[in-house]
Amino acid sequence: MPTLNDLLKAIKEQRHPAAAMSRLPGMARVLGNRTKSIDLDMIQLAYEFAEEAHRGQQRKSGEPYIEHCLATAIGVARMGLDEPTIIAALLHDVPEDTNYTLVDIEKNFGSEVARLVTGITKLGVIKYRGMSRYAENLRKMFISMAEDIRIILIKFADRIHNLQTLDALPPEKRLRIARESLEIYAPIANRLGMGNMKGVLEDLAFPHVLPEEYLWMKKDIMPVINRRVEDVKQAIAVARKELQKEKVKVFEIHGRQKRLYSLYLKLLRPEYNRDPDKIYDLVAMRVLVPTVTDCYNVLGILHNLWRPLPGRIKDYISQPKPNGYQSLHTTVFGPNGKILEIQIRTKQMHEQAEYGIAAHWHYKEAGGRQPLRGKGVELPKKLQWVNDLVKWQHSIQDNQQYLHSLSIEVFRNRIFVFTPHGDVIDLPEDATPVDFAYHVHSWIGNHCAGARINNHMVSLDAKLKNGDVVEIITDKNRPNPSQDWLKFVKTSAARNKIRSSLAAKR
Ligand code: MN
Repeated sequence: MPTLNDLLKAIKEQRHPAAAMSRLPGMARVLGNRTKSIDLDMIQLAYEFAEEAHRGQQRKSGEPYIEHCLATAIGVARMGLDEPTIIAALLHDVPEDTNYTLVDIEKNFGSEVARLVTGITKLGVIKYRGMSRYAENLRKMFISMAEDIRIILIKFADRIHNLQTLDALPPEKRLRIARESLEIYAPIANRLGMGNMKGVLEDLAFPHVLPEEYLWMKKDIMPVINRRVEDVKQAIAVARKELQKEKVKVFEIHGRQKRLYSLYLKLLRPEYNRDPDKIYDLVAMRVLVPTVTDCYNVLGILHNLWRPLPGRIKDYISQPKPNGYQSLHTTVFGPNGKILEIQIRTKQMHEQAEYGIAAHWHYKEAGGRQPLRGKGVELPKKLQWVNDLVKWQHSIQDNQQYLHSLSIEVFRNRIFVFTPHGDVIDLPEDATPVDFAYHVHSWIGNHCAGARINNHMVSLDAKLKNGDVVEIITDKNRPNPSQDWLKFVKTSAARNKIRSSLAAKR
């Protein structure tokens, strides 16, 4: 049961020089500067606001709702994020689930917090509807990321707490949330280089999505892993002595256990055929050193100690993986001839591999924030592919429709709105409910009698904005379409359909 004190503690721990030091050498100063700017009184105010807004509400598990807000904020604080993000995490469910609005949030906590909460509320509209919607959902995620990466980080913390409290939900909903986590959230965490986040999401979802397979892993595979942990412990003792003798500075040597779900996927591959003895990296030895030179040095020393298996040395330092992962990997015949995988990396590479974009955040803070399109926080250079992917996905879809590529400029002038069911529809800027109606279906366009945007009645020539949820009210007896609509529709599809229905009527 998380409390306000737990949250304040999580923030202070991040601020503590020791915690900062343990993250990255030389980062203490940077983190110190960053967290000093977190005003704990503001955090407390946000907590009180959220507590009052959600008062009387309970989670399905019976706990007061505020505990979910706190758990999300604690997750965000542990990622080392800044004050607006922690406050937004506390308030993330306020507009959707309480009588308070975004306007109230903006009045009390400013526009930056309000913008973050808006982003999360928009993402909340996405509903899982199986793999067919997968690409579309992914695209929406990327769009929100491109706007402000902190939105997706709050969403991760929110999702982790939801997964931790899944048992209270009806089976159908439980399965949907768990599958969505496996198929949408975890791959995004992976693409952002957040290996730790990906693993946590997958392992929380695994028992709900594949309960029998999970039990098999627990019963048959875990004992093998536990035996291997012991082997690696022995090997670590030997390696430590040898590296000491060679006077190599080593930060840390530890055993890395493969996460359950990723191991499960590996076991399913035909070459392993569900046999854990064929997998060499069930438990790996991991060596953290100060510099890149030390990495290669350690590799040489350990190869001299234990004979390497041919063809299994991977240099991800000179050739990083697409998500930025860096390390040296090798497999050797370890003590007693037992096969052992070794991973060697600098501490900075380790931070990067575990925390990905969140580690980036710290670097970014060091250099100060740069707004993207005048708002939010820009993606680090290394992650510009997120933007590129948004553009790329868009042009792929358009290619299918128009068979010729569209420029990036076209993308920039488009908006994304949602149906009440959470499906995304992209339209040109300043499109109206009538454009939306015709995009969904000609019949809906022709019988369109009114429209609601975000639950408010609007006129049919209202301008839609990014993230709006649009609902069309139809009336089958209405003598539509109207000639007047031609004055304000933005899409040629709507214009053509209106013209042809008018012609047919005459
Ligand atoms: Mn939530």
